[in-house]
Amino acid sequence: MKFINDCDSVLNNEINSEIMKFDRNSFFNNIEELPVLQNKVEMNSKTDLVIIGTGMVGITLAARAWHLGFKGDRITLIDGNEYFAENFFRRTKNSEQKIMRSSFIHHVAPNEDINLADFTRLKHNELTNIEKEQLTLARMGERSLPSLDIFLEHVKHVVINHNLHKRAFKFSADSIEQNTTGKWIISDSEGQKIESKYVVLAMGQSPKENMYKEHSINAHVDNFKNYLNEKVKTVNIIGGGNTSAHIVKSCLDRNLKVNWIIRNEENYACTDIPHKYWRDEGYLKFSQMTLDKRMEEIKRIYKGSAMLEHKGIFDDYKKDNALTVFDNATIQEIDKNKTIILQNKTRVESDLIISTIGFELKKLPQIKNGINTFNGFPVLNDSTLEAEGLKNLFIASSHSALSLGPAAKNIDGARIASERIFKELAKREGIEKYNVKNILENLTNWSRNTPVLKK
Ligand SMILES: Cc1cc2nc3c(=O)[nH]c(=O)nc-3n(C[C@H](O)[C@H](O)[C@H](O)COP(=O)(O)OP(=O)(O)OC[C@H]3O[C@@H](n4cnc5c(N)ncnc54)[C@H](O)[C@@H]3O)c2cc1C
Repeated sequence: MKFINDCDSVLNNEINSEIMKFDRNSFFNNIEELPVLQNKVEMNSKTDLVIIGTGMVGITLAARAWHLGFKGDRITLIDGNEYFAENFFRRTKNSEQKIMRSSFIHHVAPNEDINLADFTRLKHNELTNIEKEQLTLARMGERSLPSLDIFLEHVKHVVINHNLHKRAFKFSADSIEQNTTGKWIISDSEGQKIESKYVVLAMGQSPKENMYKEHSINAHVDNFKNYLNEKVKTVNIIGGGNTSAHIVKSCLDRNLKVNWIIRNEENYACTDIPHKYWRDEGYLKFSQMTLDKRMEEIKRIYKGSAMLEHKGIFDDYKKDNALTVFDNATIQEIDKNKTIILQNKTRVESDLIISTIGFELKKLPQIKNGINTFNGFPVLNDSTLEAEGLKNLFIASSHSALSLGPAAKNIDGARIASERIFKELAKREGIEKYNVKNILENLTNWSRNTPVLKK
């Protein structure tokens, strides 16, 4: 078992598993509370900047773009979903996650705006004691975990205060093509189009195909609670990541017996990627690697882990024999009676199998001018995140990992992506406010990046 408590902390606080028992029902139980996207018939056919995706990354990018003057008719957000942050909402609610895994400093607001800790402070009277403790740690710069509800409330605040909800439309990008004047035309499957000078893709991930779908449910798609009934006493849960750990906890808390089947070692860590990848020392080193080495690093880092706070809870359940962990386990077969047979011939019986085996890159729209990829990831300019050979088409979110490093898929990866993309857009637009030549290069919060040979 691994327990990696390298938490960017000087106080070395005890890990407090009580935080996982956090409960407050006053915020965000319904998806309808999220800002909604508008009908695409209301959408203009021309704009200056289209952002594809209104998840955490798209929101971060659009709020940053607002400060550079991309507002009103100059910006359009499109998404196939109905609500802002819908994927994140559904996925965290499905797994009954109540606390963010990332610290208070990871949020969607640009530096100019109210950050998550200050936003939380304004709600001080409504906070539970655990939240108040975490907020104190946040204001000391220590590792500190916001509640999911407050985090979502802050996301909503950022969307509304930048008027993003007035500029966002339910529109699924099917294809993208650059016309002879250099403008990008984005079309949906019904032939509706929007033309834009700049496009930024922030498309996230979709759940992997469930290879055991005949005999199990996929927790990233189905709500596991809908499958619990009085006949289900023992559950087999496949996958060693954070979603899995939350569902293991939820089932144990419902007095179910859980067998946790993990392909790698049972692993608890502060965050799902090492902290250095949110900072220069991580991503500058990464950018000096060849593409092959970058891929190796991404695959190595993207192995799942549970939160440190899960461990104390799981230790107690293990003592009571309610939880059994099968790690370094290879599944050979699953039979129709919901028994998992491992390669070492162990038979793990259950009444319900829940699979949580992760995500893959969301399929890109058809890019008619063609796009260079490496192992499925688009090849980008490391400094600007512009797709190689595709002027004014930028790629953020999970798809930018080959240039941005493992942080690409996380909320704070959106901050790093914003820095690279908008530094370049500000230059191209000659935005005076930022006195591009002198000031922009020296701002400490803009990432500094020395391009190196990729081969
Ligand atoms: C259970 C769970 C907990 C997590 N907790 C944390 C955490 O605490 N901290 C953290 O940093 N990260 C966490 N993550 C990772 C988290 O999901 C990401 O950080 C974040 O949601 C990624 O945002 P995104 O915008 O890249 O992707 P998404 O939120 O998935 O947004 C992508 C959007 O693009 C849209 N889209 C895709 N293709 C198209 C198209 N062709 N046309 C139009 N729209 C399109 C999608 O509909 C979607 O709305 C967690 C993930 C899960 C599953």
